[in-house]
Amino acid sequence: MPMIVMKFGGTSVEDARAIERVAAIVKDRLPQKPVVVVSAMAKVTDTLLTMARAAGAGERKTALKLCRSLQERHYNTASELLGTALFTDFHAELGADFEGLDELLRGISAVGELTPRTTDHVAAFGEMLSSKIVAAAFSAHGLNGVHVDAREVLVTDSSYMEAAPQYEETNERLQTRVKPLLDAGQVPVMGGFIGSNRAGITTTIGRGGSDFSAAIVGAGLGAERIEIWTDVDGILTTDPRICPDARRIKVISFDEAAELAYFGAKVLHPATVLPAIQKNIPVYVLNSRNPSCEGTKIITRAPQGKNIFKAIAVKKRITIVDVAAPRMLLAHGFLRAIFEAFDRHKVAVDVVSTSEVSVSLTVDSNQAIPALAADLAKLADVKYEGRKAIVCLVGESLRDKPGVAALVFGELADKKIRMISQGASEINLTFVIEEDEVPEVIQRLHRTFFADLDPEVYA
Ligand code: ADP
Ligand code: ASP
Ligand code: MG
Repeated sequence: MPMIVMKFGGTSVEDARAIERVAAIVKDRLPQKPVVVVSAMAKVTDTLLTMARAAGAGERKTALKLCRSLQERHYNTASELLGTALFTDFHAELGADFEGLDELLRGISAVGELTPRTTDHVAAFGEMLSSKIVAAAFSAHGLNGVHVDAREVLVTDSSYMEAAPQYEETNERLQTRVKPLLDAGQVPVMGGFIGSNRAGITTTIGRGGSDFSAAIVGAGLGAERIEIWTDVDGILTTDPRICPDARRIKVISFDEAAELAYFGAKVLHPATVLPAIQKNIPVYVLNSRNPSCEGTKIITRAPQGKNIFKAIAVKKRITIVDVAAPRMLLAHGFLRAIFEAFDRHKVAVDVVSTSEVSVSLTVDSNQAIPALAADLAKLADVKYEGRKAIVCLVGESLRDKPGVAALVFGELADKKIRMISQGASEINLTFVIEEDEVPEVIQRLHRTFFADLDPEVYA
C-alpha cells in the first residue's frame, strides 16, 4: 500500500501555532497515507540534557526547576491546542509523565551519577511528550491521529545515546504495529530519536536523530517518499545563518546530500539518506512555515548544472590532533596504533593528513580529548588545538573538472589553511580553518561560486 513519512523538526512543533500548521500540512496529505514522526519541541532536548547533568552533579533544585518550566511549556501548548474540555483528560496523562521525570531526576541526584543509560531515559521525554501532544492535536483538528510509542517500534542495540537500529526487528514491528493503523485510515504519530533495546530499555539514536528515525520508518514501510519538514526552504547553498543570501537547491544527489550532512549541514542528519538510498526512496526537505515552496528533492542521480559546487558545509567546534613520531619514519603499524587509540576512546575522526613523520587528524571538540591525548602520548608526541572549523565544498562535477583547488585556494590566498583533503569521495574538497574566520571565508567562497546559478539546479 502506498504511504509516505512526514517528519517535523523541533521548530516545526515549537508551540501551539507551529503544531496547528503541522496539522494543516498533514491534512493536505491525507490521501497519501502519512506516518508522522516528530522531534521534541524546539530546545527541549537541550534542556532535558542540562537538567540530567545538573541532577548528576547533585544540583537537585536546579534540575527540578528546569523540569517544572518544561512542564509548564508543555501544559500551555497542549491546553491551547486542545481547549479546556479535551485538555482535562490529557492533563492527567502529561502529569503522570512529568511525575515520572521528576522522580527520575530525584533518583539521579540522590545517586549523584549520570550514566548514558539514565541520560537516555531523561532525553526520551522530549519526543514522548511532543508526539503525544501532536497526536492529540490532530484528533482535535479533525485528523484521525493515533499516538504510537516509538520505543515499541524502533528496536536498537544497547549503545546508549548513540544506539544502532536493529532493522529486522524494527521492520517487523512496523509491519505489525504501524501498518494496521494506516490500513484503518488512521494517522500514526510517533516520536523520532527514541527507541528501546531488546530488553525494552529506552535508548536514543544520537543528536538530530529524528531525521534518521523518519528514514528508518520510511524504508521499513516502503514509503513512496520521505518528507523532512524544517524551518528553511530546503537544502541551501550554505548555512543561511552564516550567509543570509544562501539559495535553495532544487534537486541534489544522495551522495552530495550525505557529504553535506556529514560535514555539518545541520538541515539533515547524515544517516538519513542511507535507508532511503537502499530502497531508492526520494527524500524531500520542506519548510513548515512556507509549505507551498517545493523544497529540495534528494534522489540517486541529480542534474549537475553549470556550477562547480552544489553547496558549502561548515562544521565548527573542531579540534586538530597532531601526532608526531619521535624520529624517523612512520613505522609499520604506527597508523593502526593511532587509530586504535581513537577507537578505544570512541572519538570519531573526520579529516586525516599524513607526512613522513606525523599525522594530523580532526575530531569534534569533546571531553574525551585530554584522555585520548594522554593515551597517544605513549606512542608519540601529541599536540592538540581547538577552535577550528571544517569547510567542505561538495559537487559531483568535481570528479572531472581541472583547476578546482586552484580556484578555491586562490580565493583564500591570504588565509591560513590548516589541513586539506580532496579525493576521498571524489565529490568533496575539504579543508580546515580557524573557527573565527568562518563567516568571512564562507561569505567569500559563496560570492565566488554561487553568484551566477544554473536555474536547472537552483531556485
Ligand atoms: P530541525 O529542528 O527541523 O531538525 P535543524 O535545526 O536540525 O532543524 O536544521 C535546520 C537548520 O539547519 C536551518 O535552520 C539552518 O540554520 C541549518 N543549516 C545549516 N546548513 C544548512 C544548509 N546548507 N541548508 C539549509 N539549512 C542549513
Ligand atoms: N530532539 C532530538 C535532538 O534535539 C532529535 C531531533 O530533533 O532530531 O537532538
Ligand atoms: Mg535536525
